Amino acid sequence: MQKKSYAPESLMMSYGYNASEHQGAVKCPLFQTSTFSFNSAREGKSFFELAYGLRKPDKGEEPGMIYSRVNNPNLELAEQRLKLWDGGEDAAFFASGMAAISTMMFTFLRPGDILLFGSPVYGGTDHFIHHVLPQFGVRTLMFTSEETEDDIRALLHAKYPGEVPSFIYVETPGNPVNNLIDIEMCSRLSESFVSGDKKCLLAVDNTFLGPVFQHPLKVGADLVVYSATKFISGHSDLIAGACVGSKNIIAGIKAMRTFLGSMLDPHSSWLVMRSLETLKIRMERQALSAIKVAEYVRNHPKVETVHFLGFLEESDAQKKVFDKQCDGTGSMISFTISGGEAEAFRFLDNLSLFKLAVSLGSTESLAEHPATMTHIDVSAEDRQRLGIHPNLVRLSIGLEDPGDLIAAIEEAFNHV
Ligand SMILES: *Cc1c(COP(=O)(O)O)cnc(C)c1O
Repeated sequence: MQKKSYAPESLMMSYGYNASEHQGAVKCPLFQTSTFSFNSAREGKSFFELAYGLRKPDKGEEPGMIYSRVNNPNLELAEQRLKLWDGGEDAAFFASGMAAISTMMFTFLRPGDILLFGSPVYGGTDHFIHHVLPQFGVRTLMFTSEETEDDIRALLHAKYPGEVPSFIYVETPGNPVNNLIDIEMCSRLSESFVSGDKKCLLAVDNTFLGPVFQHPLKVGADLVVYSATKFISGHSDLIAGACVGSKNIIAGIKAMRTFLGSMLDPHSSWLVMRSLETLKIRMERQALSAIKVAEYVRNHPKVETVHFLGFLEESDAQKKVFDKQCDGTGSMISFTISGGEAEAFRFLDNLSLFKLAVSLGSTESLAEHPATMTHIDVSAEDRQRLGIHPNLVRLSIGLEDPGDLIAAIEEAFNHV
């Protein structure tokens, strides 16, 4: 039987790399170099003409290497492999998730434009939207997972009558209580927002479930964004970000990246390739352990509410969204402990095995206190509305034995 295409996990060790071109090295060598020498002045001229779009590539011609802010073999190979997971035509890696998000927004937003965004978003993104974009004349409109398509259209009409957004940005599942935003609904909105020949684009921050358990491009998104610091790298040893989408959209973002200088460096790109080889097995195992930990936490008498995608009730509208766009429940759990900040702190201070640290999606389990750490910058009113209470604790489940993690949690509860 001839198989037409392999699954992404089958391609992470080989795709785009030919060992015979590199003395048989099974792994792609690290190209720790800032610049690349040309064989002739004519060749250098030809590479530059292509890089600056001054001529079309010849049939089958790949852009030649020039300078590591523009291109680098490690960066490009990591991008070719990442795109396979989301079914995108191309991908771009950045120095951080925030570099990916800000470069993408600067590529598509212009003074006077309206950005429609779903709340909550990551703290850094929230700050960028509220405090940086307005300095460039970009107007914004926020909605939440509670609002329907009609509600959002009504909000838009009330704030900007007769105008349409040129960019939609959502993060789903949302941090830290796993609210889901319907990507298909956002795609319907973006398709209806046409002004002149300008198309409204929809971007989804897929950091929490992707690229294994959620594929936004397949349900109508134009762009997927990642903090690759989290699951994609997965070892808490580097900072990176990424965008995935069509060739055309990514080409625009890469052009902006060249001039902002926000690309990923060769060594981190090399480490990302190492991580992509184990991405699926890590995410699957972490998700299996998270189910066991979440079950234990849910049954603990000192726990009030558990926010975990595996516990959505059939009657909950969020369950319908989950069934449409998620292929797994992930490994993020948050829960409230009876009491307040003092009880949450006693739990965290007595929790062994977990690291008391922000970030998520790594091999080691992490625990943090959203109200005073990741979400301290969110207004008290928004924290209340989003369920970020003083007694809320967030866990990211890693690769330790789930029985050991549960034992550590049980012991920590004994101190509360
Ligand atoms: C961490 C994170 C970011 C920011 O990424 P950095 O790599 O820290 O710059 C953006 N979005 C989400 C959902 C995140 O968790």
